[in-house]
Amino acid sequence: MLPSGLTQRAFRSCPCINSSRKKQSVALRPEHNTAIAALCQTSGTRRRLRFFAGFLSTEPLRLSMLLCRVSALSRTAARWGRRSRPGDGLLRRALSLSSGRRLCASSGEAGAESGSAPGLYRDTVLLPRSEFPMKLTGQKLLEREVRIQQECGFADLYSWQRERKAKKEFCLHDGPPYANGDPHVGHALNKILKDIRNRFEMLRGRQIHFVPGWDCHGLPIELKALGELGTSGLSPLQIRRKAREFAEGAVARQKAAFQRWGLMADWDQCYYTYDGAYEAAELKVFQEMHSKGLVYQDYKPVFWSPSSRTALAEAELEYNPEHVSRAIYAAFPLSTLPAAMASAGLEGGVSVLVWTTQPWTIPANQAVCFMPNAQYSVLKRTDDSQLLLVATERTASVAALLGAELESVGTFTGTTDLEGGMCTHPTVPDKLVPLVPANHVTMAKGTGLVHTAPAHGMEDYSVASRFKLSVECMVDEDGVFTHLAGPELHRLPVMTEGTDKVIRMLKDAGALVKEEQCVHSYPYDWRTKQPVVIRPSKQWFINTASLKDKAKEALQKVRVVPESARGSLLSMLDRRTYWCISRQRSWGVPIPVFYHRETGEALLNKHTVSHIATLFKEKGSDCWWELPIETLLPDGVLKKSDAGPVTDYVRGEDVLDIWFDSGASWAAVLEESDTRADAYVEGKDQIGGWFQSSLLTSVAVRNKAPYKSLMVHGFAVTEKGEKMSKSLGNVVDPDVVINGGKDPSTPAYGADVLRWWVAESNIFSEVQIGPSALNSARDSIGKLRNTLRFLLGNLQGFDPRTQAVDPKEMHYIDQYMLHLLREYSIKVTDAYSEYDAGRAIRVLQAFINRELSSFYFSIIKDRLYCDPEDSLARRSCQTVLEEILDGVTRSISPILPHLAEEVYLHAPGHDEGETLFKSGWIKSSSVWRRPGLEEAVEGACAVRDSFLASIPGKNAAQYDLTIAIEPGLLFELMESLQEEATSTSSQLAELMTVARVTLTGALPRDLPPGALLSTGSFLINLEGGVIREDSAYSVAAVPTSAARCPRCRRYTAESAECLCPRCQPLVSQARRPSDIA
Ligand SMILES: [Zn+2]
Repeated sequence: MLPSGLTQRAFRSCPCINSSRKKQSVALRPEHNTAIAALCQTSGTRRRLRFFAGFLSTEPLRLSMLLCRVSALSRTAARWGRRSRPGDGLLRRALSLSSGRRLCASSGEAGAESGSAPGLYRDTVLLPRSEFPMKLTGQKLLEREVRIQQECGFADLYSWQRERKAKKEFCLHDGPPYANGDPHVGHALNKILKDIRNRFEMLRGRQIHFVPGWDCHGLPIELKALGELGTSGLSPLQIRRKAREFAEGAVARQKAAFQRWGLMADWDQCYYTYDGAYEAAELKVFQEMHSKGLVYQDYKPVFWSPSSRTALAEAELEYNPEHVSRAIYAAFPLSTLPAAMASAGLEGGVSVLVWTTQPWTIPANQAVCFMPNAQYSVLKRTDDSQLLLVATERTASVAALLGAELESVGTFTGTTDLEGGMCTHPTVPDKLVPLVPANHVTMAKGTGLVHTAPAHGMEDYSVASRFKLSVECMVDEDGVFTHLAGPELHRLPVMTEGTDKVIRMLKDAGALVKEEQCVHSYPYDWRTKQPVVIRPSKQWFINTASLKDKAKEALQKVRVVPESARGSLLSMLDRRTYWCISRQRSWGVPIPVFYHRETGEALLNKHTVSHIATLFKEKGSDCWWELPIETLLPDGVLKKSDAGPVTDYVRGEDVLDIWFDSGASWAAVLEESDTRADAYVEGKDQIGGWFQSSLLTSVAVRNKAPYKSLMVHGFAVTEKGEKMSKSLGNVVDPDVVINGGKDPSTPAYGADVLRWWVAESNIFSEVQIGPSALNSARDSIGKLRNTLRFLLGNLQGFDPRTQAVDPKEMHYIDQYMLHLLREYSIKVTDAYSEYDAGRAIRVLQAFINRELSSFYFSIIKDRLYCDPEDSLARRSCQTVLEEILDGVTRSISPILPHLAEEVYLHAPGHDEGETLFKSGWIKSSSVWRRPGLEEAVEGACAVRDSFLASIPGKNAAQYDLTIAIEPGLLFELMESLQEEATSTSSQLAELMTVARVTLTGALPRDLPPGALLSTGSFLINLEGGVIREDSAYSVAAVPTSAARCPRCRRYTAESAECLCPRCQPLVSQARRPSDIA
């Protein structure tokens, strides 16, 4: 007897083999395959045999081959080793097949659905049983999550994995959140994304380096800590003490939330930018940049916030697109005409027309800039004969604006014709300002002639450097005109009364041509929400212009996810030519500089800085204010610095920009790790913030980026797509999401729902959160939970370590599921690798819906519930269910660590106390890859689909099926699933979920009149398209004449009172012990 029709068919299809040989082929050996192939004359037959030789090579009867293969099996397959003693398998299979040949056997629709088996036989049916709860809500859910965190060692996991041996490290460097408030959903989005990646990499065997940190310095904390008090009357140390206390409180609250969200980290080993050791590392970066000439002190325009009295960096600005300015058009009379104009006969009365949105800067005007190659026209107003110089390109819009007709009386070309011209300043008596060429002039707005106040504009400042213009500032730290602006303006705030006054002065001078309101984007202080100004002051700068090219080059080697963010990163580098790093505040890392009392000269070198760094490391940076200057600047250091006595010096009062603090984190935190982090994962606001400050400092010090990849995500917004803000009352509080709120519309969702929301969101755009997103996340987890419960229920009493079936002995459909599980695990792994947890979820849901719920689970229920408990058929199925449970649970564990560990507590096959996160990623094996098998099962599924389409709404179990396929590959594949011509128990009958299947070459002519016919074809594609065959099939479905078995409810019994042939011996065996009792 042959174990499968396939082998028979292989022999039959070969004309060279005689029938007597066929009968002896039980002990067919691999060499026979070669022999058969060699004997075959037709190429087609040889091709098929080659295919089947491969397909069959895992058949249990091939003892020698099996043994070879077992030794080559992976770690996973070795688990089955105990089970897969070849002789044993052979015996079992033989027994299984012989029992299957009786009148009735397992297949088809599961009759014994929960509760449906008649009472008489219920206790003989193996229905799923599990203590794993179907649903967890409210307080129970919360308690369960917290208990799982404790029982499954969430707190120790990070240290455990640091100590284990691992070949590779994965370093995700945490961008420090700001320690100035309560945890919010933005934190949840960012931290959970990081944790998903960390847990995934940890499960795959990498050693994770992840040190959570906090950005603890800076004005926002200082302002919040001092509240109404303000800084008045407080010493720097008093301010710092209050600010530190405030930051510590915020850190504690955020840390507790992060732990509750299930983040894997050692929470006793975090980094804080106010730690002495951190500050020392930061100063080292500062010193190295200074020694390379990248840090310098200068007097130049910076963004200045009058409301917080400090300089601000670009990253500390918020642009208000609704800002309204009083824009003016002002005329600057030409007192000296350029030569070209004079020779054109324009003797006098020509005025240069300029436009500005900041009239308060007019008193500081030092020049008017024109575009070097542009055309300019002198225009005569027809209404009042005034002559105005305007860019030719802007003539029409200026005419429209003035509501006057303008007549051109002469045209001139930029540098060639305009240079040498001098204007009279309209508000400053006797002051002359030149016409100068500048490349920043554009024709997009205004008149093509640009009012230039070097103290109040970055571009204006660079024009001033070129033409040696004055950068004198008439505005103080409070944004008020100083006496330098003249008695009329002195003490007026520039943005309000100062602006009024300047406009009135222009009007009085007859220089105001037009005033209008201009709505435009204007920089505001990110903390005080007040507009900033640009004013020059003496500050410390980093020369970012000279770092730009190196930084861009380093960025080329960085992987950016999504790639579209790279452009913004590059353009941010272009925008910033220098970086102002000094702040006139107390709560920060002091700039370690001393100034000469007399000359004001700065004393700053490697000796002074490394001495200060050592002190900071020991005592923290408070010592800058606490210690006497003799200790900060001891004789030894002074000597090495070639400086005079310590009494000549005073310490500096500025602190470093907090973006410099956090930008140096790689130096403070990644020391032990590889020199570059594998990933930085932050929101898109960090493109101009931490991503950039870290890049610049790292490139400056060591000429490489601090990261190998950057992942840039979007922001959390409300379900209406609105930005969350306290004033709008639309803030989603992650604590309320987890623990529930007072309102019944805010139930307790638990941490896993919050995590699922993060994972499922399209994190590369705006991420919406609200009741519908959270409810949908909860429902999705509920469905997943049910699937896992079904798997657990059917694994009751099964121990894969002793009862698992070797894949080669399994039903083909079971082997096929392993194949699908392997494909699933590959897809999921790919998705996580690309930071796309959303795709991992979609792959999971498709696998559960398509492959499990509507396919596999619907087919196997009969085998699971009604076959003998320890039968090969049932154990084969359970082995696969256990693999599926394990694979699915591991695949969701980075997203849902609580649910995953909860399932693991109930799952078979491991010792008590073992946790999922300590036992690795999905263990799919390449032996699960069975291409030929795929064709066999998918071919059968195609036939099944045709059949099911022919009986809409009817119960498939009540039909007998005749499947007719012409001789060929498809027929041979179907024979592998059913070797007999007719069967109620074959794998084919199970797949079709019908009462009985007849497999034949052609449909019989005498089909009953009620037969439902369907046809179709299936394309077999094997060996990468080498074997392709399109096979037609016909299916005839006829209502069965068999009766329903009262136990399994399959239509395979002789009468409704009789058990079917499969159930009969099973029940009598099961009942025997109780009869005796
Ligand atoms: Zn039955």
